[in-house]
Amino acid sequence: MFRSIRSRLWLSYALLIVSALLVVTVSVVFYLVSNPLELRQAKQKLNIVQELLLATRDEWGNLPANRLEREFRRRAKNLNVRIFVLDEKRQVLIDSGRNENPPIEFKRLTRLIQTVYDDANTPWLYNWETLGNNQVLVVATERPRVAALNLVSDELLPPLLFGGGAALVLALFLAYGLARWVADPLQQMVSAAKRFPEQGAKPLPVEGPQEVRELLAAFNQMQARVETSQRSQKEFVANVSHELKTPLTSVQGFAQAILDGTAETPEAQKNAAQIIYDEAGRMHRLVLALLDLARLDAGMLEIRRAPLDLQALANRMVEKFGPQASAAGLTLLADCPALPPTPADGDRLAQVLGNLLENAIKFTPAGGLITLGGQVKDGGVELWVQDSGIGIAEKDLPHIFERFYQADPARARGKKQGAGLGLAIAHEIIRAHSGKMSVRSLPGKGSQFVIWLPGADPDASTLIRKKK
Ligand code: ADP
Repeated sequence: MFRSIRSRLWLSYALLIVSALLVVTVSVVFYLVSNPLELRQAKQKLNIVQELLLATRDEWGNLPANRLEREFRRRAKNLNVRIFVLDEKRQVLIDSGRNENPPIEFKRLTRLIQTVYDDANTPWLYNWETLGNNQVLVVATERPRVAALNLVSDELLPPLLFGGGAALVLALFLAYGLARWVADPLQQMVSAAKRFPEQGAKPLPVEGPQEVRELLAAFNQMQARVETSQRSQKEFVANVSHELKTPLTSVQGFAQAILDGTAETPEAQKNAAQIIYDEAGRMHRLVLALLDLARLDAGMLEIRRAPLDLQALANRMVEKFGPQASAAGLTLLADCPALPPTPADGDRLAQVLGNLLENAIKFTPAGGLITLGGQVKDGGVELWVQDSGIGIAEKDLPHIFERFYQADPARARGKKQGAGLGLAIAHEIIRAHSGKMSVRSLPGKGSQFVIWLPGADPDASTLIRKKK
């Protein structure tokens, strides 16, 4: 009962209407009961009668008391008033209504209130004037009274009931309309939330009052975010399964060949074992990369930032990858001047540069040149790895840092096959350093991967990366 917005709105309207009607009724009744119009009319009548009596004083002024009372009774009856004559002690000498009405005692005569009660407690309005001989002429009439209850039941109740009923019906419609305005979008949201997650759920129409519109907009945003995250999660699982399926199939196949004797010769057996070894290595690398990504996603990969000599790091990396480059017939050079100490995690940065150098070696034909360079830039430092390799097509460039993205994997055939995770991890690591990573490339001419790292920040020495 009265739990929905609709019924509460209607209830508050109804209460408001009833209380407004009550206030109006009480004030109208109060006004009518005090009855200023009839009161004024009665007072006017008293004034006129008094004037009349005073003007015709010579007609009755000299009459003896008993005849005077008779004369006043006659006049009072015609004029519908009660006429008194009081002596100097305010004792009643003459009372025209002595026989019909209870007696009245005039203790004090005032000009202000001019109401007196008879012995039966009936209020009388009066007007008085002195008559020269210390006597006082008083003209009185019963104070007009209105019966409050009769007034309410006869005059006020029918229009009040009609008006109140009409207002309540109107309130019902108003409350219904208003409640629908507020509650319908909320109801839609409830149904959408119950149906969620639903394939291809449309955003809810943003309508209703301001607060509800904001809520709907926030709900739509949340729904879109959850959908995106669900989609990328599904893609991620599909990609991981796909990447594991290929090496597992070949491991299984070649192990089977050794077991059932299909690989008969020692050479064939060695070849099968080599493939099993390579594929196991590929799976191992994939699992390590996935672990790194999971830690980065969970904000659990610790980035220990310490002032780093980047020139020394660049030289070390060139030294480390020198033999690999030479074996591929490539020239690998360091072109890094002395750079200001930059807060970074040395191991993680070496991982990123290693990945870039490995890619450069993988995608540069023999005879090419690879350079690892650096410079001071925009309040930080820049490191880059440039190669004269096959480059990256323009359509692939925007996706190159996405997980599992491989621009035409066939290009790496014959080389150590990756899973398209290296650049995604490198990108995340640089982001965890509050840095930026970008790529420029021309197909056939070569690629340049650029890392920018912010300069020394006096506060930060160790930073645990929190997911944004
Ligand atoms: P993978 O481990 O498969 O190499 P990466 O994330 O490191 O994955 O790279 C993603 C893709 O970007 C690669 O498949 C490759 O097509 C392209 N790529 C990366 N580096 C280069 C480069 N130096 N030259 C040309 N293509 C590159």
